Amino acid sequence: METSVLIVEDEAAIVTMLRYNLEREGFRVYTTGDGEEAITMVKEYKPDIIVLDWMLPSMTGVEVCKHLRWDNNTKGIPIIMLSARGEEGDRIRGLDAGADDYMVKPFSPSELVARIRAVFRRLRPSLSEQKLAFAGIDMDIATHKVTRNGEEVHLSPTEFGLLRYLMEHPGRVFSREQLLDAVWGHDIYVELRTVDVHIRRLRKALNYDGNQPDLVRTVRSAGYALEESTDAAASEE
Ligand code: CA
Repeated sequence: METSVLIVEDEAAIVTMLRYNLEREGFRVYTTGDGEEAITMVKEYKPDIIVLDWMLPSMTGVEVCKHLRWDNNTKGIPIIMLSARGEEGDRIRGLDAGADDYMVKPFSPSELVARIRAVFRRLRPSLSEQKLAFAGIDMDIATHKVTRNGEEVHLSPTEFGLLRYLMEHPGRVFSREQLLDAVWGHDIYVELRTVDVHIRRLRKALNYDGNQPDLVRTVRSAGYALEESTDAAASEE
């Protein structure tokens, strides 16, 4: 499963260099040079991390960062801020705006990759660990073993992939297209309804005795999310 990065930077040479290096490291890379477009792209693509330049044409990186932090749908996405300004006051302003890390230009691409990995280790330990846990579900990625409240849950590889992706991003809503991309891969053609079928199977497998709360939330016309819901009406099917 690819980790995706959105690069928000208006200097083409830096974008080219970062894209090349991040793709080589196995990241999926989206780019834009405009702050407003960045906000739209974050909502559409839900990147795993954002590399955000301070100086941008329509909005500053600090404004983009604050905006993303105000919005419940985007506030959990880590942000690494880039700036040509290296003074302590700027660094603090960047972090105050909600950035998770701050890098001063010029920097080496390998340092950025190292910082990205460090942010993930700090904020999202699940990405670098072999075990995931959510609301009583335990997943061992190495052995493909899943249990819920200690009982083994039997999943096909596709359902395992779906559950893994949802467990890596608990609470985030994914469209069917995004789940197809993440679990099936974006270069094969699969009908969107296939996702619904596998979600239905996943729900059934997780509810092995018919008495388990449904953790997969259907978000009308948006997609699916893994959530611990107290509102039974929020889940259906
Ligand atoms: Ca710039």
